[in-house]
Amino acid sequence: MYPELKAHLDQEQVTLVAVSKTKPQADIQALYDQGQRIFGENRVQEMAEKYEALPKDIAWHMIGHLQSKKVKSIAPFVTMIHSVDSLSLLEKIEREAERCGRCIDVLIQFHIAEEESKYGFDASDLPAIYTALDGLTHVRARGVMGMASFVQDEEQVRAEFTLLRSIFDQMKVQLGAEHFDTVSMGMSGDYKIAIEAGSNMVRLGSLLFGARG
Ligand SMILES: *Cc1c(COP(=O)(O)O)cnc(C)c1O
Repeated sequence: MYPELKAHLDQEQVTLVAVSKTKPQADIQALYDQGQRIFGENRVQEMAEKYEALPKDIAWHMIGHLQSKKVKSIAPFVTMIHSVDSLSLLEKIEREAERCGRCIDVLIQFHIAEEESKYGFDASDLPAIYTALDGLTHVRARGVMGMASFVQDEEQVRAEFTLLRSIFDQMKVQLGAEHFDTVSMGMSGDYKIAIEAGSNMVRLGSLLFGARG
């Protein structure tokens, strides 16, 4: 299953983040042994424990809502934070990355779903985001992240992903940065639609590891 999926995504030039949240270290090691190097977690403590125990060439991506006070415990090793959903979080990442002498890649999370509960910015926040990004030296904005609504209506999901892609395109023009290159959208249930809508990074959990308990 994994080799075929990975080959397909490679061919489409889509990066695979294997979402290993709640899964045991042995499951991660098994996928690592098949060549996977990027893993996504949504809890700080769990990610830090897995980082300690598993091979050091794993790139750990934080994909879940992150509280500012918890940035400190992942700043020394995290490769990318997908879930930057406030300007205060962005500033906190800058400070903690500086303390570690690192530059941390981040994605700006946008709220594209109709559900109220999801975190993220709106397109109307873009001017404030540009101002905040200007002058950061230990955070590198790499792109955007978003989650579509959990609905059967494929056209709604497609429209939400298309909106996120258009926000990315708009930001790319404004920021003019070559390294601003990542559109993280698509999960196990909707990644094909996401890729059609312009995703180049998918976050797959249950498809790779089986359903979470
Ligand atoms: C859990 C999670 C995923 C993966 O979900 P699956 O449906 O298991 O593929 C992707 N992105 C985020 C932000 C998640 O929390």
